[in-house]
Amino acid sequence: MPFTLRGDDVCQITQPTPLPDPYWVAFSPDVADLIGLKLTPEGLPSDPQCLELLAGNILTLDSIAFKDPIATAYSGHQFGVWAGQLGDGRAILLGDIHGQELQLKGAGKTLYSRMGDGRAVLRSSIREFLCSESMHALGIATSRALSVVGSKKPVVRETLETAAVCARVAPSFIRIGHFEHFASTENIVRLQELADLLLDSFYPECKQSKIPYLSLFTAIADRNAKLVAQWQSVGFCHGVLNTDNISALGLTIDYGPFGFLDQFEIDHICNHSDHGGRYAYHRQPQIMHWNMACLASAMLPLIELDHSEEEAQTLLRTALESFPITYAQEWQSIFRRKLGLKTEQSEDIALIENLLQIMNDSHVDFTSFFRKLSDIKKDAAAGSIQLRDEFIDREKIDLWFKDYLARLQSEPTSDQGRKSAMNQINPKYILRNHLAQAAIEKAQEGDYSETTLLLTLLSHPYDEQPEYEAYAQPPSENAEKISVSCSS
Ligand code: AMP
Ligand code: MG
Ligand code: MG
Repeated sequence: MPFTLRGDDVCQITQPTPLPDPYWVAFSPDVADLIGLKLTPEGLPSDPQCLELLAGNILTLDSIAFKDPIATAYSGHQFGVWAGQLGDGRAILLGDIHGQELQLKGAGKTLYSRMGDGRAVLRSSIREFLCSESMHALGIATSRALSVVGSKKPVVRETLETAAVCARVAPSFIRIGHFEHFASTENIVRLQELADLLLDSFYPECKQSKIPYLSLFTAIADRNAKLVAQWQSVGFCHGVLNTDNISALGLTIDYGPFGFLDQFEIDHICNHSDHGGRYAYHRQPQIMHWNMACLASAMLPLIELDHSEEEAQTLLRTALESFPITYAQEWQSIFRRKLGLKTEQSEDIALIENLLQIMNDSHVDFTSFFRKLSDIKKDAAAGSIQLRDEFIDREKIDLWFKDYLARLQSEPTSDQGRKSAMNQINPKYILRNHLAQAAIEKAQEGDYSETTLLLTLLSHPYDEQPEYEAYAQPPSENAEKISVSCSS
């Protein structure tokens, strides 16, 4: 839906900075389809001008003209501290196409670039591209990635790298930070316009309720609660859960120093700039709740339009209290399914939590453990289950398996039925850091085949793909821990 708000306090019309001699690095035919681009049999755009468009060098394609590309203003809390005005420092929204917003990340400086150069590097662009598409295939709400366009243009980070532009697609890129922006500048008219835009385009059901802005808040918080439960279920760590990186549609956005867990470590920190571990795996739900509290504060003036300050605060506080409940329900429901449980028993939660504790203590690979769990037969003897070999404390896991097998006995599903259900919730293939890194290293040498292969592979994360068995394996012991920082 078009971002219809205009004015210096909202956004700036911004032309992308041309990217010299662009070339394709990655392209998603699926996303091209979503926005109605015509493709060649090789799966690239039929219109050769498309490359120039997605590099930021031209603003037209066939009959489409992107007249007023914009960079929007937003604010936010970074690492828990109010950071004031931020904004699209390197992402330019070209406009709408087939009901989706098309944004170029790394398209050059904007009014909001602050000290930054407005560019993104090849490495981070490939990571965002692959992870967006992988998340979508996992069934987790996310912005999509249409393409990565590369260039020899040098970009200075810790080392000298080259520039790339990632074309991102989403129904809307509105963030919690947009609300905080107008709230902090006490721009109530804009705050209301922003909320109305969301109500009209994305949350029409909330308009029927008694207090539509309160329903809007609840709906946004609900989506984000469910989103973070889904992240936990596939071992995804976002890395930078600042309020400016949180979508008002409950999408995963702004892929930076993210990481999927290999070994299960409950307190895993994927972002090496996150010294305090604020955004560690186990803290993500709590942090998302905190971010929703920031949204509640920002939306307070909207509720106050029809209520006293005290009433408005009580209404929002009460609405915010549903976050942990929604999160827990979603988390429990997904983890039951991960264990292959169709029925609900109150002891299930302890069963799940015990397992995660034992997995943590033994540093067991998160993804492959759950995938292999579906091989277990109801009638097996606890001590004979091969998966026990993955654990250091065999006694503990044997006891757990004993409880699990007993629990399976009370399930109506057959072994085969359970296995196929489990294989639809426990992915075989995720974007492990070492896989992304291998694709990046090849791409830096001009070979994009591994990036393309990962796109194809990760588009079917729940399918067995025997020829790619190696891609399902955890990184080898001696594969160095890959360090990912905010610098991208
Ligand atoms: P991030 O944590 O990557 O979401 O970025 C936080 C803020 O910094 C956002 O407003 C970005 O637009 C901005 N930013 C990040 N990198 C750059 C860059 N290289 N040039 C300009 N702005 C940037
Ligand atoms: Mg961001
Ligand atoms: Mg540890």
